[in-house]
Amino acid sequence: MTNDLTLNNGLHIPSIGFGVFQSAPEETAAAVETALAAGYRHIDTAAGYGNEREVGDGIRRTGIDRNDIVIETKVWVSDYGYDETRHAFDKSATKLGVEQIDLLILHQPMPQHFDRTIQAYRALERLLADGQVRAIGVSNFLPHHLAALREQTEVVPAINQVELHPYYTQPAVQRANADLGILTQAWSPIGGITFYPGWGEDRRSVLDDETVGRIAAAHGKSPAQVMLRWHLQRGRSVIPKSTNAQRIAQNIDVFDFVLSPDELIAIDALDRGVRGGPDPDEVDPSTWDLIIPEP
Ligand code: NAP
Repeated sequence: MTNDLTLNNGLHIPSIGFGVFQSAPEETAAAVETALAAGYRHIDTAAGYGNEREVGDGIRRTGIDRNDIVIETKVWVSDYGYDETRHAFDKSATKLGVEQIDLLILHQPMPQHFDRTIQAYRALERLLADGQVRAIGVSNFLPHHLAALREQTEVVPAINQVELHPYYTQPAVQRANADLGILTQAWSPIGGITFYPGWGEDRRSVLDDETVGRIAAAHGKSPAQVMLRWHLQRGRSVIPKSTNAQRIAQNIDVFDFVLSPDELIAIDALDRGVRGGPDPDEVDPSTWDLIIPEP
């Protein structure tokens, strides 16, 4: 198995990318620099994370050819609408310091304003046609959002980035993605959302799961490495986040062991069917107090 996946439009991306959600801006450039030195070539950020500028800084500091790095970012809902989303591209590209964005995706469906979600996606299609982005996609889309999108737009999303870890595997979303030729990209791939500080005392970290721990011990690997390997063997893209150099390196060091079919099935069976993040159908993200500033 190599660190490579092919999107439905032929674009190659590494299967392991590097996430920067909740990485403080002052830590982000160093984390990105450390990740690139450790071998990552794909960074996942978002306009809403407030650290696109630092992602660009970190990339430039390494001197690695821009063309060798996949930069993925997301349009926040306050920028949905055709003209607004085209302008969101300008804002993100300027902050990142790049002319072209490799993978530009919609951060959330807005079920309460789906017309604006559609207009935003049409703007992504235009950016793709104009060569300003190399692939487009979505995030947190449920099967019925994908179906509605497909009815009203032309380009099949290249990826759908969704919450996915052993405690929440979203089989229906994975099936809908596969049926449409959309790559499933796992956010919180090692279950970050099951232990984010301050997100609720009753959460149970999947890093402490007994089954994952037993499999990790059997391979001389960490629970995080086992979860990442499980995603890769199931054909998914992952974007683990860390600001710690050791853990950054650990999370890409997953190509020297193989999980058995029984181990994969045992991890699949941990699914509890309860999401850690907000239900995309229940929240109205446009009510959240988040506006993306001009560069
Ligand atoms: P995650 O990557 O599953 O977990 C991150 C957490 O795990 C951090 O607290 C990190 O702390 C810790 N960690 C990292 N490596 C570890 C290891 N080897 N052993 C033990 N702990 C480890 O969770 P995530 O940040 O939620 O998800 C990853 C990325 O997905 C995000 O950064 C973001 O790019 C994306 N995301 C997207 C959405 C969306 O709505 N589209 C939502 C959430 C996340 P340290 O930093 O201290 O190592």
